[in-house]
Amino acid sequence: MADEHILLLPKQNYFRWIQAARDYAFRFRVRITHDPETAGKFQYPGQTITLVNIAGGFGRDVQPWFREHYPDAKLDVLDVTSPEELREKLAERIRNNDPFGKDDLPFRLRWPTDYALITQQFGVNADYYRRWGLPGHEGLDIRAPEGANVYAAADGTVYGVHDGSNNHPYGIHVRIRHVDGYKTIYAHLKSAHVRKDQQVSRGQVIGFADSTGNSTASHLHFSLKKEGASAAGLTLYPYDVIDPTPYLDPPDPGSVIVDPGDGGEPEPVPITYDWPYGRCLIGVHGRADGPLGERDYQPMKTARIEALKLLSNAPVGDIDRVRSDNPQIFLMTRLFTNFGDTYISASEFINRVEQGARAHYQRGIRHFEIHNEPNLRIEGWQNIWQNGREFGMWLLQVRDHLRASMPEAKFGFPGMSPGNILLGHRTQMWPFLDEADFAVQECDWVAVHAYWLSQTSLRSLSGGQIYKEYRRRYPRKLLMITEFSNPSERVDSGTKGHQYVEYYRTLRNEPGVGAAFSFVLSASMFFPYEAWRREDGGMNPKVQIIGARNF
Ligand SMILES: [Zn+2]
Repeated sequence: MADEHILLLPKQNYFRWIQAARDYAFRFRVRITHDPETAGKFQYPGQTITLVNIAGGFGRDVQPWFREHYPDAKLDVLDVTSPEELREKLAERIRNNDPFGKDDLPFRLRWPTDYALITQQFGVNADYYRRWGLPGHEGLDIRAPEGANVYAAADGTVYGVHDGSNNHPYGIHVRIRHVDGYKTIYAHLKSAHVRKDQQVSRGQVIGFADSTGNSTASHLHFSLKKEGASAAGLTLYPYDVIDPTPYLDPPDPGSVIVDPGDGGEPEPVPITYDWPYGRCLIGVHGRADGPLGERDYQPMKTARIEALKLLSNAPVGDIDRVRSDNPQIFLMTRLFTNFGDTYISASEFINRVEQGARAHYQRGIRHFEIHNEPNLRIEGWQNIWQNGREFGMWLLQVRDHLRASMPEAKFGFPGMSPGNILLGHRTQMWPFLDEADFAVQECDWVAVHAYWLSQTSLRSLSGGQIYKEYRRRYPRKLLMITEFSNPSERVDSGTKGHQYVEYYRTLRNEPGVGAAFSFVLSASMFFPYEAWRREDGGMNPKVQIIGARNF
């Protein structure tokens, strides 16, 4: 992360800005520059640029400039008016251990059409928009053929519906007011299906797309405003217009229609996942070490568990016993051996896991996760593989060998350890996954590990919602949340139980998520704040809370 993160500060009063940013840069090992060109070239296209944005700070509106010259750089925009304000905002990130401020945004926007393509970015084409007194395109143009659905991007109240009769440049359009002074506009419609003062909810169809008003072809023009933003100098745009891009959730691949990119009409491509259950199963990760004990079965019954994850060294007796309680239960297996500091080649790994894996296969198990958190030193990083590419090759060797004797098995790419770099212990997961992409694509499914410490991080993209980034990267892969938990020692287990119910409920109807396994049923040591039962057999209160869920 540190290797790909750069902080862009205003040049004027540079040293005051540096002082304000010093703790942050030190804490997250972030480079600093005042030159947009340097930030753009730095590690392009993999970098994240934390842009400290003050009105006129770069002598131009720097966001559209980046979008034009370095379109793949990720911008993390911090709107501030003074070094003191910057210091405060960065201190908040340090407290949250959140280098990119992912938890900052007050609300999110749903993708407002079924078409995953932006045809004109925010802020571009300054020469064209100057005639309307605008610094550039004042919204996003999003692909939407004539008659396509247009969706409300967030909950709110309709405050304007224009029927197009007054020759407005937006033609027929709808305006919605949301929380905290945010407003959205949906322009160039064929028809509006809402009326003024109507309450609408996120995802509700509010009209059909077309090309009314000042438009040459059918599309949706989508704008975002924040009351007071122009007066406060938070935007160079009049009328409180701000850039919607950072607020926009990626389109839901379960419903979007993929644009062919050749100018032709897009074809609907329904995505089907190889998952006969059609919903996300309520799961638990079995005992962390050794076979299941007799005391492990009651918590599974109490919590009404639908899926159980086993390790490949679990005796087949465990499988039979679990099924005698619940014949319908879905079982999967993680190929497991202790790595320690030993060098475990692919063939050594196969030697250690094959017998167990085949025994599970003969009992009907078909889903196998190959290994675990390979971006950790204790799981082989810096010892057996140096990077994702080398791990990908190791993994495919294992997969190719096992496939010969287990032809119907579906092999999963393992969950990664989420979070920041820990020097000598963990390397960052996303670059590692990029390097291993050829192997991810070869796998039948992809495992996700999700951890959070608070209600906020449960709902953030770096915490509980991390599977959404996986979905964006692998729109067609079946995902399995093979581990999730709140391991905090400061959060009581009742609160955790309610968080787990919320998480299971969110995932229940998420397309292409097969099962979610809470970590962990029991363990002979470690994980005192995560285990579902104690070693004396006592059950953690969260087990009852999960069992009492109404779905
Ligand atoms: Zn537009």
